[in-house]
Amino acid sequence: MRPAELPARLRELEQAGLARRRRRVEGPQGPLVRVDGADCVAFCSNDYLGLASHPALAEAARRALAEYGVGAGASGHICGHTRLHEELEQRLARLVRLPRALHFSTGYMANLGVLPALAGAGDVIFSDRLNHASLIDGARLSRADVVVYPHRDVEVLDHLMQQHAGRARLVATDAVFSMDGDLAPLPDLLALCERHDAWLVVDDAHGFGVLGESGAGSLAHWRLSSERIVYMGTLGKAAGVFGAFVAGGADAVEWLLQRARTYMFTTATPPMLAAALLAALDLIEAGSWRRERLAFLTGRLSEGLSGLPWRHLASPTPIQPLIIGENSAAMSLMRSLREDGIWVPAIRPPTVAPGTARLRITLSAAHREQDVDRLLDCLRLHAGDEPAAARTA
Ligand SMILES: *Cc1c(COP(=O)(O)O)cnc(C)c1O
Repeated sequence: MRPAELPARLRELEQAGLARRRRRVEGPQGPLVRVDGADCVAFCSNDYLGLASHPALAEAARRALAEYGVGAGASGHICGHTRLHEELEQRLARLVRLPRALHFSTGYMANLGVLPALAGAGDVIFSDRLNHASLIDGARLSRADVVVYPHRDVEVLDHLMQQHAGRARLVATDAVFSMDGDLAPLPDLLALCERHDAWLVVDDAHGFGVLGESGAGSLAHWRLSSERIVYMGTLGKAAGVFGAFVAGGADAVEWLLQRARTYMFTTATPPMLAAALLAALDLIEAGSWRRERLAFLTGRLSEGLSGLPWRHLASPTPIQPLIIGENSAAMSLMRSLREDGIWVPAIRPPTVAPGTARLRITLSAAHREQDVDRLLDCLRLHAGDEPAAARTA
C-alpha cells in the first residue's frame, strides 16, 4: 500500500462494517464494569474465574512490587529471570503434569516462538482451519510448508499427513476454539501424531484454569500425557493476570529456551506479575467451586440461548457464541443490548468466517444468576425486532 492510498483503505473498512472501535473502561474488570461513563453488565471478558480483580492477586503483586520494583530489566537470558519467574515455571509444570515449563510474555509471543523453533524450511505444519491468529502467524514465520486442514477433521488430517510422509511434521491446534468454544479432538490428534511421529502443539488459552481437575486444562480434561505434546497455556485469561507458558518434555523445553526467539529477544515480564500468578495458581488449584459455579451458569445460559431464533453453538466452556449472520445485524444487536446496559462483543470477519458474525458471550464465575437471566430476557425481546431475513435459524 502506498501512503496516499491509506484514506481510501480506511473508508473501505468503515463501509464494510469492519472498522473497530474501542470502549474506555474505568476501574477493575468484573461482571459489572464502568464503561464510557455508564455501568453495565459485561459478557466479554476471558477472565473466566473472576480472578483479574481478586484482592489476593493484587496483594501478592504489591508485596513483590515492594521487594523487586517494577521492571525486569532485561530478557530472561540476561538478568530478567527472577526467583519468582523460576517458581512460577515449576508450579505451572507441576499443575499441567509435564516435566518442564517456560514462561513467555504473552500467548501470542509463545506461539510465534514455538512453531519456528520446532519446524523450519522443508518441514510441514498442519493447522486447523479455525486456529487462533497467533498459531497462523507462528506457522508463517517458521517457513515450513503450512497445510490447513478442515476444522476438527481427523480423517482428512490423517490423509494429509500420509501425503507428506518422510518429512518432519507438526500438528498445531487450539484446544478450545476461541470464537466457537468447541473442543479439538485431542486424543485422536495425539494418536495420529504418534502414528506419524509428529509433534502436537496444543494452544490451551481457553482451557487452562477452566477445564480438567484442579483447572489443569485440556490435557487433564482428556487425561492425556505425552512428550510429543508441546502445551501452551495463557495466563491473561482464566488466570486473571498476563503472560503465557509452554510446557513439555525436558528436552523440548530446553530447546525452546535455547531457540525460541520470542523468549530470547524480549524483556522478561515484571516480577510482580509472576507473584500475582503464583497467587492465582493457589486459587485455581484450590477453587473447584469457581469451576462448578461457571459450569452451572454456563448450563443456565446455554439452555436459554437454545430457545432463541439464532444459531447457538453449544459448548461445555464459558464461550457461548450466538451466530447472527451479517455484520450489520450483529452490530445492531450489540448496540441494542448496550442500550439495555449489557455489553456483549460482536465478532466479525476476519476474526470469523464471512456471514457468521456473532455475539461472543463469555461467562465468569463472578456473574450472578440474575445477570444471565437479564441477558436472556433482553435477547428474547430483541429477537422480536430482528427482521426474519437476518436470522440464521
Ligand atoms: C488469547 C489467545 C492467545 C493469545 O494469548 P495472549 O496471552 O493474550 O497473547 C493465543 N491463542 C488463543 C487461542 C487465544 O485465545
